[in-house]
Amino acid sequence: MGCQLIDGKKVSLEVKDALKGRMAALKEQYGRVPCLAVIIVGENPASQSYVRGKVKACEYVGMESRLVALPETVSEAELLSVVDGLNRDAAVDGVLVQLPLPAHIDEDKVINGIVPEKDVDGFHPRNVADLWLGAKCTVPCTPKGVMHLLDAYGIDPAGKLAVVIGRSNIVGKPVAKLLLDRNATVVMAHSRTKNLRELTLQADILVVAVGRAGLVTGDMVKPGAAVIDVGINRGADGKLHGDVDFDSAAAVAGYLTPVPGGVGPMTIAMLMENTVECYLGRISTCSLA
Ligand code: NAD
Repeated sequence: MGCQLIDGKKVSLEVKDALKGRMAALKEQYGRVPCLAVIIVGENPASQSYVRGKVKACEYVGMESRLVALPETVSEAELLSVVDGLNRDAAVDGVLVQLPLPAHIDEDKVINGIVPEKDVDGFHPRNVADLWLGAKCTVPCTPKGVMHLLDAYGIDPAGKLAVVIGRSNIVGKPVAKLLLDRNATVVMAHSRTKNLRELTLQADILVVAVGRAGLVTGDMVKPGAAVIDVGINRGADGKLHGDVDFDSAAAVAGYLTPVPGGVGPMTIAMLMENTVECYLGRISTCSLA
C-alpha cells in the first residue's frame, strides 16, 4: 500500500507564502500590515525557541511583531498590566503569552486578560465557548493546523472513525470538536482509557497528543489509517521525537506526519493566519491606526 508522508513543512510554507502575497494589498487598503505581540516570561529554552520561531514567521510573512520579554520574577499584576496595554494599543492585532508561565502566575487569569478579539491562540473562554457552540471564533493553532493537513492531503473526516489520544484544552479537546464538525465519529482517549490498542486499531484517523515518545506503535495502527502525531518530546539523544514510533507506524499507516516537520510548522503558520483574521476582524469594528 505504501505510506504517504504528510509534509507539514511544505504545507506550512504554502500557507505562509499565501499570506505573504496578501501583505502589500492589506497595507495599501488599510494603511498598515497586521501586528502580533508576543510576551515571554523567563528564560525557558523551549519557550524561547518557540517565540523566536513566531517572530521569524512574522518577518517571513511581512507582518509586524513585537516581542515583550519579561523577567521570571515579574508579578502577575505587572504581566496583566502589560497585557492590558497591548489590548488597548490600536496598532496591535494579536496578543500571545507564551506558556507555561512561572508557578506564581495564574495562567487562566492571564489568558482571560487578553481581549477575545486579539486572542490569536484561541484560548480565551469566549473563543472556547464559541468553538463549541459552532460560532465564529479564533480556532487554536495546533488543532487548526491538524485539520489543514488533513485537507491538504484530501483526507475527508466525514463518516470516518477518528480517535484522538489526549484531552488537553489546547490540542485534544479542540481537535476532537473540529473533527466532529467535519462529521467524523470521534472517540477521545486519555490516560485512564482502557484497551487503547483496541480503539486505535479501529481508527481511520488517529490524532496523538500526549507527550510520550513512542506511545503509539505500528501494531496499534489500522492499515491505511491517517496518523497525525502532535507530540514533541526531546529524547536523550537531544533530538525531537513524536508520540508515534515512526518506523513501525509508517509500515502500516496510509498517511503519517513526521516529527519534526509535521504538525509543528503548521502551528506557526496557523498563528500567522489567526493574526491576519484578528486584524481583519478588528477592521470591521474599530480603527487600526
Ligand atoms: P497535556 O500534557 O496537557 O495533555 C496530555 C494528555 O495525554 C492528557 O489529556 C492525558 O490524559 C493524556 N495521556 C497521558 N498519558 C497517556 C497515556 N498513557 N495514554 C493515553 N493518553 C495519555 O499535553 P498537550 O499540551 O495536549 O500536549 C501534548 C503533546 O503535544 C506534547 O508533547 C506537546 O509538546 C505537544 N504539542 C505540540 C504542539 C505542536 O505545535 N506540534 C502544540 C502543542 C502541544
